[in-house]
Amino acid sequence: MTNRHMDFFVREMADFGPRKREFLEIGRRAGLFPSAVARQGPDGTEAEISVWCSNDYLGMGQNPFVLEAIKDAVDAFGAGSGGSRNIGGTNHYHVLLEKELAALHGKEAALIFPSGYTANDGALSVLAGRAPDTVVFSDQLNHASIIDGLRHSGAEKRIFRHNDVAHLEELLATADPDRPKLVVAESVYSMSGDIAPLAQIAEVSHRYHATTFLDEVHAVGMYGPQGAGIAAREGLADRFTVFMGTLAKGFGTAGGYIAGPAALVDAVRSWSRSFIFTTSLPPATAAGALAAVRHLRSSEVERERLAANARLMHRLLTERRIPFISDQSHIIAVFVGEDQLCRQASALLLRRHGIYVQAINAPSVRTGEEILRVAPSATHTAGDVEKFVEALDGIWQELGIPTGPTAG
Ligand code: PMP
Repeated sequence: MTNRHMDFFVREMADFGPRKREFLEIGRRAGLFPSAVARQGPDGTEAEISVWCSNDYLGMGQNPFVLEAIKDAVDAFGAGSGGSRNIGGTNHYHVLLEKELAALHGKEAALIFPSGYTANDGALSVLAGRAPDTVVFSDQLNHASIIDGLRHSGAEKRIFRHNDVAHLEELLATADPDRPKLVVAESVYSMSGDIAPLAQIAEVSHRYHATTFLDEVHAVGMYGPQGAGIAAREGLADRFTVFMGTLAKGFGTAGGYIAGPAALVDAVRSWSRSFIFTTSLPPATAAGALAAVRHLRSSEVERERLAANARLMHRLLTERRIPFISDQSHIIAVFVGEDQLCRQASALLLRRHGIYVQAINAPSVRTGEEILRVAPSATHTAGDVEKFVEALDGIWQELGIPTGPTAG
């Protein structure tokens, strides 16, 4: 008798196929790329690879102020926090960072988590699950961490069609007026790069007395005054109850957070399992994130560079009729629409041009909607963007990938 449990996984991984192994291998190599440009060849040789799918959108992961802050904090406090937030693991930097994030969003309080995933999971399981009878309204394309948090809450959930405020309103209108309500959306959508109609979402949610929870993971640092996000850019910061963000993308480090009214933040602090039962962020990471948030509150340079690169890429792709889903943000989902072609395009970009951009296939997107998720960074130059689009165009022609207008 063999170990049937072990046998299952051995068999499953053997059947996983070269496709998945190739994917894992690209991921492993990608881990060697420190930033937008790295010196590491695909076969281990020295070669320049330019990275076009990093979420370190503003280059803060390499920013000297951030690195300095991390080094100083390592010297002062060591490598780890030593515990969970409630048992020995709260450091000076955690507290300072929470104050800074609350101020950034103009909210009473903020709470940091080890990641954005755990922030959504932990916060939503409490905010949706704790108030009895809550009904949640969630955008169809909300991130896995939102979906998991809502699942963990056990609350009743109604899904509205992506960015469809009329559908949201229809669902709100048919819910019992006496039940507590929570509306959950993202500002910049992670795979399509389009932006939610925030003014209308806020308005309709307000009309039906719903709490609003907005994931600004792909917006904080990059948009709005002081990098406070899209809602702030549109003058709507006080129309959303809770903001959720990450420290791992625009802020270049790691960790996630929520910011909102003290009562809600304290409830999450008191009951969120992914806050309570895990080791807190290393103090040095919090110190680095704090330096990044402070820097981006006062500097426009990185935001302007990112915006200019995104605009240039939108224009050049449009000129060459390479379709992409949305020109509303720096997340540029170049549409391929076929699994095999998408992987081939990604592989050729790397092999021929030293360009790394990950193919996004099912289940991250629906079958038939495969994309190259391109994210220019503030550290790319205009020349880099031109070269990138040139290379992409060549591969589009070589592989015969359909061209056409952009969805807009
Ligand atoms: N929300 C969204 C919309 C995301 O795209 C992600 C991660 N890509 C997260 C939350 C989780 O953030 P983190 O990577 O910090 O865990």
